[in-house]
Amino acid sequence: MKYIFVTGGVVSSLGKGLAAAALGTLLEHRGLRVIMQKFDPYLNVDPGTMNPFQHGEVYVLNDGAETDLDLGHYERFTKGVLSRANNITSGQIYETVLTKERRGDYLGKTVQVIPHVTDEIKANIRRLAEQPGDVIITEIGGTTGDIEGLPFLEAIRQFTLEVGHGNFLIMHVTLVPYIKAAGELKTKPSQQSIAKLREIGLYPHVLICRCERPLDAEVRQKLSLFCNVPLDAVVEARDVDNTIYEMPLMLQEEKLDETVCRILGLNTPPGDTSDWKKFVQRVVSPKKRVTIAVVGKYIDHQDAYKSIYESLTHAAASHDCGIKLKRIDAEDIEKNGPAKYLHEAAGIVVPGGFGDRGVEGKISAAGFARETKTPYLGLCLGMQVATIEFARNVCGLANANSTEFDLDTPHPVIALLDEQRSVTNKGASMRLGTWPTHIRDGTLGRQVYGTGEISERHRHRYEFNMKYHDLMTSNGFIISGRSPDGTLVELIELAGHPWFLACQYHPEFQSKPNSPHPLFRGFIGACLAHLS
Ligand code: GLN
Repeated sequence: MKYIFVTGGVVSSLGKGLAAAALGTLLEHRGLRVIMQKFDPYLNVDPGTMNPFQHGEVYVLNDGAETDLDLGHYERFTKGVLSRANNITSGQIYETVLTKERRGDYLGKTVQVIPHVTDEIKANIRRLAEQPGDVIITEIGGTTGDIEGLPFLEAIRQFTLEVGHGNFLIMHVTLVPYIKAAGELKTKPSQQSIAKLREIGLYPHVLICRCERPLDAEVRQKLSLFCNVPLDAVVEARDVDNTIYEMPLMLQEEKLDETVCRILGLNTPPGDTSDWKKFVQRVVSPKKRVTIAVVGKYIDHQDAYKSIYESLTHAAASHDCGIKLKRIDAEDIEKNGPAKYLHEAAGIVVPGGFGDRGVEGKISAAGFARETKTPYLGLCLGMQVATIEFARNVCGLANANSTEFDLDTPHPVIALLDEQRSVTNKGASMRLGTWPTHIRDGTLGRQVYGTGEISERHRHRYEFNMKYHDLMTSNGFIISGRSPDGTLVELIELAGHPWFLACQYHPEFQSKPNSPHPLFRGFIGACLAHLS
């Protein structure tokens, strides 16, 4: 196993996760088996309890781990299907160390950051190395110099000593800003962040230089000299104009994969990335565009619905079209009604969410889609609001609601199951991870999936209330997917509507560039048909 550690300098938001994922893409295209891992230095045990405004989307894995959104990039950019072991936080490390301490595992020793915390960090890399693979790419969250990141960097220093030269590589992502007044690119911030890294005992082999303008020969020379890396290890990563999926191609042009393989002694042929290029081409120059409205409450946040936006992109590319995204604040719909915001949309998506802010707006959006026969894709909460809307406006159940939003509703069409009622802990207490679903023959869902047996990832507490099954279905509400024992509703659709599908799970976590998720692909197909 070879080990690549990805660190970041100067500022956050440099796209370290993307750079790591893009390198993963390139190494896979060279025939290597790549394992991606992320270390997050915060003390939360996982990001599941963090506000999306703070942290963006929570990405859910098959095993139910609630993880950082970079894991989404990893799964979309590589073939890897990740698990809990691929995202480790300081919170988890400390939780383990403290549990061991309480159990007496340290036999009376003083428990310290070095060696106990650092040992635990290294053990996590070693555990991952037992999986089949050629390279582990570990990204360290945060920026070099952050106090909270130090135990991770120290653990990596020790680890590199253990595995020895030729078996590891440090790739440092840095910023090379253009200063207008001087009319030039500046290398000093990079020099300083690398000096910081050296102080910690890590010597980068490769620099990924984020920049708005191309690095000229002189700047490259300077970075090479002052940062102590060979010239061909100074890699330009200019801001991508069109799509993040250009990143691997850009890094390939800079021969990053070649340099990395040379340093690690990996004798591999150049990768054929023509499949990736074709996909990027379709995203960059679409033949037409289709307007999709996403009605949510974190619409100003770039990352809160990340996987949904990416899944729409994948699906659209497979239809040779692009997306014109309209992000709509559900609270605006509450104030002004849905028509103003949704009349131009070829399709409407209502994503997942928690808490009652904006819920009535999402319910109206589902109603608008039902009445105007606009294609609708409801994801988790998007399925619950569609159910509430149908109960209220088609079945005549006034004030029907989810007990999440109204505990005293006369018609709790969405409610907690008995086993969830006694749960008081907030962390990891939902229905999480992959569960199988049976899809009924003869339904739109069956047609869209092309199979009756599927597995999808979940993250929710509330469920469709089976007490309303007969009333709802007799009015045209179709339950097309259920848990294998038949007790939980997973997928619904509406009779007489051309394309209205809503699921209790999160299909957006299983879409890849060249294999879009069937629900998203079907949805975009329906949106195109709706236009014509
Ligand atoms: N808040 C809802 C529930 O917990 C929906 C969750 C979601 O959309 N992820 O069931």
